[in-house]
Amino acid sequence: HLSKRLQTVSDHVEPGSRLADIGSDHAYLPIYLAKHKVIDYGVAGEVAKGPLSNATKEITKEGLLTILHPRLADGLSAIQPQDQIDTITIAGMGGILISDILENGQARLSGREKLILQPNVGEVVVRRWLMTHHYQIKAEQILEEDGHIYEVITAVKSARLIHYSAKQLRFGPYLLAEKSPIFITKWLEECRQLQRVVTNMRRAAHEDTLKIQEIEQQIQEIDEVVN
Ligand code: SAM
Repeated sequence: HLSKRLQTVSDHVEPGSRLADIGSDHAYLPIYLAKHKVIDYGVAGEVAKGPLSNATKEITKEGLLTILHPRLADGLSAIQPQDQIDTITIAGMGGILISDILENGQARLSGREKLILQPNVGEVVVRRWLMTHHYQIKAEQILEEDGHIYEVITAVKSARLIHYSAKQLRFGPYLLAEKSPIFITKWLEECRQLQRVVTNMRRAAHEDTLKIQEIEQQIQEIDEVVN
């Protein structure tokens, strides 16, 4: 049984995919997919020894060591050409870390991989990385679990540069078009938080009026989207 968050990520993995799950920790995602026969080949990459041993232990316990390969590696260096990976999942970390992993691992990408990314925060950084590296966003999901709101972004390489506006990068092109109740909840909460920041800055007679203006502009942008 997977968390709703990882279930949403797993929904994007097509049957027969050769998967690399980067930052796999317990390898719950590839194990679930292998057990349900969605995949018959996977790499579980981990940069840290503790999480790698979690992955190895779980994969062994499930008798899946012939299908799933735990590897100690930084980011995409877990991927070897002979793996013929066609799907990469990176979930449960910040958007900056996800885009760093993609940036530093470009030599390991063939450009034919489907990327399924689930940043916990900093989604805008991920979308910006995708755009500047000629990826096209194919789908986006937003979900709530245990009081947290998560986004899942799926992308594939495109022959041409797809331009996303600043607004689309921030809110997500699909999520913005859809404006689901969870999306509205997320941005209303973000709006309230920014308002608190501005109030505190004013109360403290903050010198940086430029910063205040910038935050107020963000608040207005959110306002226009949710109202
Ligand atoms: N992907 C799982 C999930 O979504 O539930 C586990 C997420 S866990 C919070 C993040 C994992 O990413 C940690 O186990 C950490 O060791 C790993 N990690 C962080 N930076 C990494 C990198 N550069 N390469 C591989 N793994 C990394």
